[in-house]
Amino acid sequence: MRDNAPLSRMDYSFLNLPSPVTPLNSRLLDDKNIHLFIKRDELIHPDLQGNKWRKLKYNIERARQLQQDTLLTFGGAYSNHIHATAAAGHLFNFKTIGIIRGEEYNPLNPTLEDARNWGMQLHYVNRVEYRQKTEKNFLEKLVEQYGDFYLIPEGGNNEYAIQGCAEIIDEVEGEYDYICVDCGTGATASGIIYGSGGNSQILVFPVLKNASFISNDIITTLNKYTNGNFYNWKLILDYHFGGFAKTKPELFEFINNFEREFGVILDPVYTGKMLYGIFDMIKNNYFKKESRILVLHTGGLQGKRGYNNN
Ligand SMILES: *Cc1c(COP(=O)(O)O)cnc(C)c1O
Repeated sequence: MRDNAPLSRMDYSFLNLPSPVTPLNSRLLDDKNIHLFIKRDELIHPDLQGNKWRKLKYNIERARQLQQDTLLTFGGAYSNHIHATAAAGHLFNFKTIGIIRGEEYNPLNPTLEDARNWGMQLHYVNRVEYRQKTEKNFLEKLVEQYGDFYLIPEGGNNEYAIQGCAEIIDEVEGEYDYICVDCGTGATASGIIYGSGGNSQILVFPVLKNASFISNDIITTLNKYTNGNFYNWKLILDYHFGGFAKTKPELFEFINNFEREFGVILDPVYTGKMLYGIFDMIKNNYFKKESRILVLHTGGLQGKRGYNNN
């Protein structure tokens, strides 16, 4: 069994946990005899939501346990992870430093503006330097400049992230035939697979093109951080819409219709692509009749502001 003991005492009472599960009702779902549910991790907190919160939780506890008062992490200028780390620092009283890939933004985009308003120090590095972000020299220079910090890897991906994501499944009651999760690096999917303990079929929707390599990343992550072998998952590779953060008009049309019909907001980078895919698969009878499907809403709604197409 996994050990979910807290690493340090934190007050999460202002977070909406466990996140609710909403059943969706529609003509199509009735016609196809499909029972579809969404686990609403986007409702955990307006600024600290979805898988980014799940990945940060045990990292924050670990930082506190180590008596570190500064979190340092990496990301792109529109990164949900940078945004969430800055929010977490603000809400849980950590200083935060964001190492941002690329040129300084002036004026700041909404993601970085929020981050700065929450006290994050923004440190821009060019793409060449950014690639050295896990190297000792690079990190030592950062310690010289900023003093000691708790390092959260890019995207928050480490054992604490996997543990936090596995907890999503602990919150879920009832049995599901399928659990669907979107995927960038596959860390969240790895946590879900781990949390599933071999139950349910986990469908993983990469939002990048040519993403079959993610299978190996997931297997590597599972081998590194868990002691189980899991075979109850597969990648669904058909719904990347041309690549990471690439969109098409029909994606925005789907997202807008989805919000109107179900009152659930989707983002165009992750959750929109996955739910588009799930509905397409339902239409094409991928799921057997009477299937119970749980979709994880991984949040990321702040990223919507980067698109004026909605
Ligand atoms: C970051 C992010 C993901 C991707 O998570 P990985 O663990 O890297 O696969 C999925 N959905 C949303 C909304 C995200 O912000």
